[in-house]
Amino acid sequence: MKADVFYKRVGQVCVERGIFRFSRAYDKGMKKSIFAMVLAVAMGFITAVALCVRALNVPQAVFSDADSKMKIVIDAGHGGIDGGVMGKTTGIKESDLNLEITMRLKEVLIEMGFEVALTRKTEAGLYDTAAKGFKKRDMQKRKEIIQEEDPSLVISVHQNLFPSKSSRGAQVFYRKNSENGEKFAKALQAQLNELYGEEGVKARNAATGNYFMLECTENPSVIVECGFLSSPADEALLVSPAWQRKLAERIAAGVVAYLAGELS
Ligand SMILES: [Zn+2]
Repeated sequence: MKADVFYKRVGQVCVERGIFRFSRAYDKGMKKSIFAMVLAVAMGFITAVALCVRALNVPQAVFSDADSKMKIVIDAGHGGIDGGVMGKTTGIKESDLNLEITMRLKEVLIEMGFEVALTRKTEAGLYDTAAKGFKKRDMQKRKEIIQEEDPSLVISVHQNLFPSKSSRGAQVFYRKNSENGEKFAKALQAQLNELYGEEGVKARNAATGNYFMLECTENPSVIVECGFLSSPADEALLVSPAWQRKLAERIAAGVVAYLAGELS
């Protein structure tokens, strides 16, 4: 079991135990005579949970009640008549892969206790009609959703393309002069480099990018190019559900690493 998966599970167990014990004590009814004792026990568990979470370097806010869950928007790039780039071997559309990885990432982040909102939830683009100017309308709709959701973090999921078949691996982009965006991007890049490193792919650096999706909120926003559809080797990985799940887990681990760094 990998370290990131391990502390995620341990974190959940700590929280589940704390909540369970507390609610059981509460249900029994708190007579005045035992109130102090119950309170002490509850506080003990809450402290234990806090210590446990802290020891595991997992941000406490992630595991608190629903109202204070940290919200993340995942943006599946392209969609509808805008398929994005295309796999050279299988002909797969970037838009389809983006959505697959987005859905897996959503699942992993929810498992970890985050609140997740999506811009694009289906194959369709967000432009209403395919008339002229659809791309602009699509992008504007994404921005509206992000501004309405007001997330702490934005992750836009894409696939890369390059003239050379030998370019491989994931690359994360952030807005220039966004200090937190840079930290977030580097935390994600480190995780993705480790994953692709297992396949012998050399590490890439997070980079600044002048993209609309990085300008929708002041909060840290990144574009994750999950791999190169111009590389047959990357494409073979990207179309595999197992690799998509690994990508999602690594991105989620990067989120936690970034937030842990912010709290320390
Ligand atoms: Zn794209």
